[in-house]
Amino acid sequence: MINLLEMINKAKTEHKLSKQEIISLLNCNDINQELFNAADEVRKKFVSDEVQLRGLIEFTNICKNNCLYCGLRRDNKNLVKYRLTEDQILDFATKAKTFGYKTIVLQGGEDDYYTKDKIIKIIKGIKALDLALTLSIGEKTYDEYKAFRDAGADRYLLRIETTDKKLYEELDPGMSHETRLNCLKNLKKLGFEVGTGVMVGLPNQTIESYADDILFFKKIDADMLGIGPFIPNEDTPLANAKGRDLTMSLKVMAITRLLLPDINIPATTAMESLNKNGRLMALQSGANVVMPNVTEGEYRKHYALYPGKICTGDTPAHCRTCITGKINSIGRTVSTHYGFRGNGPTK
Ligand code: SAH
Ligand code: SF4
Repeated sequence: MINLLEMINKAKTEHKLSKQEIISLLNCNDINQELFNAADEVRKKFVSDEVQLRGLIEFTNICKNNCLYCGLRRDNKNLVKYRLTEDQILDFATKAKTFGYKTIVLQGGEDDYYTKDKIIKIIKGIKALDLALTLSIGEKTYDEYKAFRDAGADRYLLRIETTDKKLYEELDPGMSHETRLNCLKNLKKLGFEVGTGVMVGLPNQTIESYADDILFFKKIDADMLGIGPFIPNEDTPLANAKGRDLTMSLKVMAITRLLLPDINIPATTAMESLNKNGRLMALQSGANVVMPNVTEGEYRKHYALYPGKICTGDTPAHCRTCITGKINSIGRTVSTHYGFRGNGPTK
C-alpha cells in the first residue's frame, strides 16, 4: 500500500508508470481516493479549473456496422431510425452557439447516406458559425478524412474501444483492429486533434488489457480521451453481460490523466448514467470536459447506444443551465475558449 502511494506520487510529477505498476494500481481498491485526488491535482495544474463544454449533436442513429455492444448496430430492429437534415443540424449548432458553446461535436452511426460531399457541406456550415468542430463518424478513408480536414473540421473522435485485438474483432464483427489503428494514424497525420478511448467492463476484458489501453494512449499521444463504462443494452447480443463498472472506469481515467497531464478528458455521459453524480465524480478525478447534448426533441431518446441514457427528456437550454450549476457547485467554472489542447495555465 505504501508502495502504491509512492507510485501515485511519482506519477504525479514524472507522468510515467510501467505496465506492472498500472496493474497494481488497478488491482488495489484501498488507494482509489488517493489516485482520484492525484489526478485531480494534475488536472488543475495542467488544464486549470475551467471545464470545457462541447455541444453534442447526434445526427443519425443509422449504422452499417454491427458492434455487439451497441444499440445502433444494424441488426437492432427495435430502434426508431432517424437522420437529421443539414438544416436541422445547422439549426441545432446555431442554437448551441447562442447558449455559449464554442465547440460542436457531430456524432453518429456509420451511415453512408451522409456522403463525403454532404459532410463537407455540413462542416462548412458549422465552421461559418465560428465554432470549433469535432467529428465522430467512424472509419473513413484517408481521402475522406483529408477532405473533412480541408473543409475545416478541427478534431476527430474515434475510440479504439479496446486495445485487445482479439476481443475487438470478436465484438466488432467484420471490422479490423488494424484498420482502426490506421484511421487514428491518418487523423494524426492530417493534423486533427485526435481523440480515442475505450469502454471499461466489456466481457473478457482484463486489468492487463486496461494497462495496455493506457500505455497505448500515451504512445500515440492522444489529444482527447473518452473512457466510459460499458452498459449492456437489452437489444443487443450482450444484453446479459455485466458491465456497469463505474469505479474501474474512473480509475482507468484517473491513471490516464496522470500519464497525459495536458490533454482533454471528458466526464462521459455513460458515467452519469450509472450514478447521478457520475460526471461530477469524473470531473474531480481527472476529467475537464463535459459534452452536453444539444440535439432537440425526440431524437435523443432514439440515439440509444445503451439504456438509462441521461437527460433524454430535457431541452438543450435546460442542459446548459443544469450542467453549469453542477460545475459551479464543485468550485469550477465554464470555459469561454475553444478548448484546444494546451489552453491550460502552464502553456
Ligand atoms: N459510430 C461512431 C460513433 C458513435 S458510437 C463510432 O463507433 O466511432 C460512440 C461510442 O459509444 C463508441 O465508440 C462506444 O465506445 C460507445 N458505446 C457504444 N455502445 C455502448 C454501450 N453499450 N455502453 C457504453 N458505451 C457504448
Ligand atoms: Fe455503429 Fe459506432 Fe455503434 Fe459500432 S459503436 S454499431 S460503429 S454506432
